[in-house]
Amino acid sequence: MAYQHPETIALHGGSHRADPTTGSVAVPIHQTTAFQFQDTGHAARLFGLAEMGTIYTRIMNPTCDALETRIAQLEGGVAALAVGSGQAATAFCVMNLCQAGDNIVSSTDLYGGTWNLFANTMKQFGVEVRFVDPVDPDNFTRATDARTRCWYAETLPNPKLQVFPIAEVAALGRKLGVPLIMDNTAAPVLCKPLGLGAAVVMHSTTKWIGGHGTSIGGIVVDGGNFDWESDRFPTLNQPDPSYHGAVWTQAVKAMGPVAYIIRMRTCLLRDLGAPMAPFNAFMFLQGLETLPLRMERHCANANKVAAHLAAHAKVAHVNHPSLFTGEAARRASILKGGFGSLLGFELKAGAEAGKKFIEALKMFYHVANIGDARSLAIHPATTTHSQLSVDEQAMSGVTPGYVRLSIGIEHIDDIIADLDQALAA
Ligand code: PLP
Repeated sequence: MAYQHPETIALHGGSHRADPTTGSVAVPIHQTTAFQFQDTGHAARLFGLAEMGTIYTRIMNPTCDALETRIAQLEGGVAALAVGSGQAATAFCVMNLCQAGDNIVSSTDLYGGTWNLFANTMKQFGVEVRFVDPVDPDNFTRATDARTRCWYAETLPNPKLQVFPIAEVAALGRKLGVPLIMDNTAAPVLCKPLGLGAAVVMHSTTKWIGGHGTSIGGIVVDGGNFDWESDRFPTLNQPDPSYHGAVWTQAVKAMGPVAYIIRMRTCLLRDLGAPMAPFNAFMFLQGLETLPLRMERHCANANKVAAHLAAHAKVAHVNHPSLFTGEAARRASILKGGFGSLLGFELKAGAEAGKKFIEALKMFYHVANIGDARSLAIHPATTTHSQLSVDEQAMSGVTPGYVRLSIGIEHIDDIIADLDQALAA
């Protein structure tokens, strides 16, 4: 059924109902490498894409399929592809469209790992990433030329937290025939970028979707709302020598507007091999079931922490969308039902005091993760963003004294008590 509400989709969305052979209500973990063909004709039809079905877990798996179809429905997309990490998802999003000599335009407001991938590793493959400040959406247009294959940004950037103007930038991109790809990791349920005009959405499922800090994974959702037939997209609309000259926009037309995600599965996943493990897909399905409920508590707690820290004598500045005013608040209004649970702040006494504060925390974990049910803290300049230059750190919102918190779902009084004792230490 086409459920409309995230609370219902998280439990019932996608391909899985009860398992057809056993009746299992929970999605079974199909921990198998390969799947038995019915006969040689069946095998040939699957390989020839005349029929979709399971062949080999590097390319598809029923447990992963249950997660893919459920998250595709949650995001309002047509199909999804689960991969081994958020980093793999981002890399695949870009590599699915780019060849050596091409470029993409990306927001500067990025997770440090994505920055590194774009600034250094993509360069190794001849793909240039042009970074622009999203304060002015027209910066994306100005940086675009005939070899620009996509635009990339984070909805609620980690750790800058200045909400991205998805509708404005997506509309500018559509005028030029350039798709906007959104990393929606920090705003699941709160924002649906595809509905605002983005063409593709990705998540690090490692974070809020998993929600319990147990598994690494990523997912790409195809919006099915973009025309890939122009000269910008030869990987999708020119004959592919790796698949008997298939033209993806034509070859899979009967399956719907899924050329982008099918090509990612049949070529990138086949050749580069970064699949999500079925066991991890099961863990993410478990997390997904309570995601809407957890987001409510995450967001309510984060609002209270933001207000508390903003009134604290030792705190110089708090960065959380619940406190924004003016244009930043207008942009944050695309988040529905809460402002996310990432929050940053600086102490008046500076960077050293920030480090001392993190070390004094007793309940918060000091870890390189976000979106866990537990509250977490880190100092980005010396950890997640340490491989960036000082200038690059500043562009992505990391100042030397910036402390990033990921507020969990514990009782708010215990969260505040731990923050207060660490501030007093
Ligand atoms: N995107 C964002 C916004 C992230 O915060 C992260 C990781 O922190 C990633 C992508 C990469 O995800 P993963 O660690 O699952 O590779």
